[in-house]
Amino acid sequence: MPLTEIGSSDRLLAELRTWVEAETPTTDAAAVNRLMDRCAVELQAVGGQLERLPGHDGYGDTLVCRTPGQGAPIVVAGHLDTVWDHGTLATSMPWRIDGAKAHGPGIYDMKAGSFFAFHSVREILRQKIATKRPIVLLLTPDEEVGSPTSRAPIERAAAGARAVLIPEPAGAGGACVTARKGVGRFDIAVKGVSAHAGGNWSEGRSAVVALAEVILKIHAMTDLAAGITTNVAPIQGGTRPNVIPPEASCEVDLRVPTIALGERMEAAILGLAYKRDGIEVVVTGGMNRPPFAETDDIRALYAHARALATKHGYELPVQHRGGGSDGNFTAAMGIPTLDGLGCTGAGAHAPHEHIIWQDLAPRCATLCALLEEIG
Ligand SMILES: [Zn+2]
Repeated sequence: MPLTEIGSSDRLLAELRTWVEAETPTTDAAAVNRLMDRCAVELQAVGGQLERLPGHDGYGDTLVCRTPGQGAPIVVAGHLDTVWDHGTLATSMPWRIDGAKAHGPGIYDMKAGSFFAFHSVREILRQKIATKRPIVLLLTPDEEVGSPTSRAPIERAAAGARAVLIPEPAGAGGACVTARKGVGRFDIAVKGVSAHAGGNWSEGRSAVVALAEVILKIHAMTDLAAGITTNVAPIQGGTRPNVIPPEASCEVDLRVPTIALGERMEAAILGLAYKRDGIEVVVTGGMNRPPFAETDDIRALYAHARALATKHGYELPVQHRGGGSDGNFTAAMGIPTLDGLGCTGAGAHAPHEHIIWQDLAPRCATLCALLEEIG
């Protein structure tokens, strides 16, 4: 039986509130680092072996905390950044408990889950619980923009690990996640020739029209049966109605279920570039998160988690999800990865974001027990 005392949902909610009230948009490294500082002080106080990797490119630091023990570790990783700008708490999304729901910016994605990871490791250390394997906790600053600076430390920690646990938000019905699509991102920039839309129409080459043609081709690449989707947004183009537009651009999001389809779709989208008759289409980008595919090892981890959830009084269904996470990196390395172990709720990246706060204690207890018990 797990031995770590997690505490009640009331007690967890009170501390989680302080995390939510520390607004941490990815774009504000100092704000992310202030929350990182608090975590570091607490983990240090209970004897965690800490390593702090300084941020770069305008992002915050990554905090690594190790617990004692021998053998391949269990890695647990959570991001402290959110998609919400400063002031969200004071305006559109104040801290609010409304019956079963607790609202606040980033509470569901993923302050609650990252708090689970931090709290579990802190309590394991503080209560001197002997775990079967050492634990490596990572708190990261930049997942919401694709983990440009934390991907390398996550992959370093995962290399040779026994398992990786990701407490991203639970899915519908409290589901954890055993597979995620891979994500590609592309930028398309079109150059045309400007001209007076009345006087010199024939001399112009519309970058907007050329971009529109490319957009329709990308949209047509969606194949729902194969699990491939594309989305073009945002788009920009032109200057004034009476000027043939010399420039237009857009961004593209691609989702694929397998590495092979990722390679094929990446080549297809990059292959849309051309230069002829006064128009130049430049396509840059590629796959930025590899697909996270379910394996037998992942199914075994899930079975373990489900058994623990039953002990803690709830069902743990499973889900394959379209959205990527840091679990994509570790699963693609072949390390058994279980995701969606955070809190129940809804509204990630949306104004109705909330958690079901009475689930804090049982969900955190399952994560903590996995950290103790995975052999
Ligand atoms: Zn997240």
